[in-house]
Amino acid sequence: MYANSRAMDYATRTADYIIGNYLRISKEDDTKDESNSITNQRALINSYISSHAEYRNAKIIDYVDDGKSGSHTDREAYQRLMRDVKNGTVNCIIVKDLSRIGRNLIEVDDLLMNYLVTFNTRFIAINNSYDSFLHPLSNLELAVINLANQHYNKDLAVKSITSKHVKMKKGEYLSCFALYGYQKSKTERNKLVVDEEAAGYVRMMYSLAIDGNSATEIAKVINAQCIPTPSEYKKRHGIRGGWVTIDEDYHFWNNTLVRRILLDERYTGKGITNMYKVKVPGKKVVEHRPKDEWIIVPDAHEAIISEGEFQKALACLNRARYKDTPADHIFYNKVKCPVCGHTMKRSGKYNPHFKCGTSLFTDHYNCTQCSVSQADIEKAVVKSIKAYSAALIEREELKLSAIQQANLSRAEIEGRIKAEEKSIRLLEDSITKNFTALVSGKMSQETFLSKKEIINNTIARKQSERQRLTECLQAITVGKSAIDETLAELRTFEKIEELDRDTVDLLVEKIIVYDEQKIEIVWADKY
Ligand SMILES: [Zn+2]
Repeated sequence: MYANSRAMDYATRTADYIIGNYLRISKEDDTKDESNSITNQRALINSYISSHAEYRNAKIIDYVDDGKSGSHTDREAYQRLMRDVKNGTVNCIIVKDLSRIGRNLIEVDDLLMNYLVTFNTRFIAINNSYDSFLHPLSNLELAVINLANQHYNKDLAVKSITSKHVKMKKGEYLSCFALYGYQKSKTERNKLVVDEEAAGYVRMMYSLAIDGNSATEIAKVINAQCIPTPSEYKKRHGIRGGWVTIDEDYHFWNNTLVRRILLDERYTGKGITNMYKVKVPGKKVVEHRPKDEWIIVPDAHEAIISEGEFQKALACLNRARYKDTPADHIFYNKVKCPVCGHTMKRSGKYNPHFKCGTSLFTDHYNCTQCSVSQADIEKAVVKSIKAYSAALIEREELKLSAIQQANLSRAEIEGRIKAEEKSIRLLEDSITKNFTALVSGKMSQETFLSKKEIINNTIARKQSERQRLTECLQAITVGKSAIDETLAELRTFEKIEELDRDTVDLLVEKIIVYDEQKIEIVWADKY
């Protein structure tokens, strides 16, 4: 515990307190755990304030993030609170416990070490008995508290998968964004309610389908009437993110988008979840699950379309559907227009061609109107895969010879890693020492911050050196067999004569077709 001159300073200036109460409830917080409810957090903080005389004349401002996860700082109220600290509106922050600020070590550390010190702001976490002015914690103690939070967060992730399935089976709507035609209920968690404006557009599309229009014709009609697409509608209503947009500034309906609405059974009131699974862990690549794995709950929300209308629209749509576009051709969803960025339309049963269909729906872009045969694209892709794998083989062989020639032994590398780790630890300790000097008034804030920056930069350098050495060690340990395996795979690709969908999916991210002469391949980052 250190004597703290600033605490004294504040005790004599009680009327100056402008307190920001930061209240947060996350989706993962068990709704049954009432202690985490906003009301209870507020009550706890208010009773804390009223039991401390120094806050008698304080002004109190609530900052509430409802349904926000603790694992990121992308929270509106939190960001607003930080701005208010910065501009001096708030000089004291009170929370129920540290995990309200975040469950991530770096974020909380950054807040306490940089922000609050810089702006001379008091920080109180009631349940952690933490008051930044009265009992300044060392870096280390803080890290311990936070580490506990992080572990808690990991447990939570496991728990939340099982509780997610329970919620799915109850018909709860768990996506971040409401289905077009609906909005998320403001009174009931995970519940969809009809958004009358967008629901009107959905009904219009279904009735056009029942009247015998194809998806393409429907898209033309609703584009002409300037009906907003789902992403545009969200943007107009101030909802950001959630929908991958090809062109940020211009949205239009095409047959795929119309079909997506017309084939979505959730409009009949069914809650349907578990439709996708993550294909590549940690990445946003998802794939469809087979329909028998879906979790379907009838009457999960109010229907926009009756079951009868849905079936009628489906039958009409299937009749009107362009027959020869099997979804499982080798270039499914890979061939893109260089101008508008959309997937090119494939047509022709015996000699399929790709052509951009966007001009059917809008004249906003000036898409190239040439039609390129699948055979030509296949030839180009095969040729490119050969060249690409040849280049990768060269790279892998270089790695292999580097390993063989490495003049450092395992023991030498291990020794160097240990040395780097030791100096990182010493540097981290020195930050704590400087922080102690800062809070005890022996060091100025400017000196502290500049020292901290220099030390942090050195730590970052040391960390990347450690990383490099670790990779080097791994390469020696498992490297040779892994590289041999990669080389074997690449050698089969180098000899490829015929494409299949798995190979294309594995190697190719997209194929941008300008014309027969110019075909650009963007590789997936598999190798
Ligand atoms: Zn186009």
